[in-house]
Amino acid sequence: MNKIIEVKDLTKQFAVTSKLGAKTEFVKAVNGVSFDVLEGETLGLVGESGCGKSTTGRLILRLIKPTSGDIFLEGKNINQISDKELRKIRKDIQVVFQNPYSALDPKMTISDILSEPLSIHKVVHKYQYEKEVKRLLSLVGLSEKDMKKFPHEFSGGQRQRIGIARAIATKPKFIICDEPVSALDVSVQSQILNLLTELQNELKVSYLFIAHGLNVIRHMSNKVGVMYLGKIVEIGDVDEIYNNPIHPYTKTLLSSAPIPDPFNDRERQIIKGEVPSPINIPAGCAFHPRCQHAMEICKHKMPFLKGSGSQHKVACHLIDYNEKFRGE
Ligand code: SF4
Repeated sequence: MNKIIEVKDLTKQFAVTSKLGAKTEFVKAVNGVSFDVLEGETLGLVGESGCGKSTTGRLILRLIKPTSGDIFLEGKNINQISDKELRKIRKDIQVVFQNPYSALDPKMTISDILSEPLSIHKVVHKYQYEKEVKRLLSLVGLSEKDMKKFPHEFSGGQRQRIGIARAIATKPKFIICDEPVSALDVSVQSQILNLLTELQNELKVSYLFIAHGLNVIRHMSNKVGVMYLGKIVEIGDVDEIYNNPIHPYTKTLLSSAPIPDPFNDRERQIIKGEVPSPINIPAGCAFHPRCQHAMEICKHKMPFLKGSGSQHKVACHLIDYNEKFRGE
């Protein structure tokens, strides 16, 4: 399968200046993230709030510029292209935002909202806008009668359907789904997830699926990347990560996920302490102040992602120092 997106050593730091302007510090939001996404595949990114998963999505969309690193779309480095080329490439990389209430312009009709990307990216001739808008609405389970309505006339789930229709309007190769169901009622979440799956099967589009819900990530993804303080600490095929997690952070994260089974009395591991500030990331392994397996080396030497089985990579010194750990 073709590699649609390849991210290499992506880094983003935000400068923050104290109120009195005396001191400038840097928030290290994304620290050397690398992964690739194949055609028709979904990579799920999961981690606690502030771990850098949404910033990674915004960097790929080029809504913000990386501090360093590269992003390739089908082999073309989109960090090193002109603004004119970037505008063309936006057709191929689209986004579904978390909040369907703020993502749609309240003054525009649904017809105008969906015609806009058709016009900007010259997807079809303007005489075909109406037909294409009807086709998009039908693809996301809405009716052509909805064309003349305004966003406030729809429920949250219907607005997210409109957001998805707008994302697929340009026939993109890659869609970043940034927490697309977390603002919706639980009763409609599964409908939106099923719609995204159906569209992926039909359109062969690839997704980067960003969420903090572990069950949602498992349901949607082929591969999963677990992020902690701006880094991917473990990445691999979804079943491998969920059935055989290796990194202590992944293990604790998974053990804390709710199970819809009152008779499953799985032991829960609680992560001790707070997530450190991304301004002062701990030296060595950033997880060491909270890790129950931390060793002396973890305090000063940063572990890098290493293969541990096909496609499964982990950034943890235990891989080197305790071969038996893998079976724990
Ligand atoms: Fe824990 Fe050390 Fe592994 Fe970090 S490198 S997760 S501190 S054992």
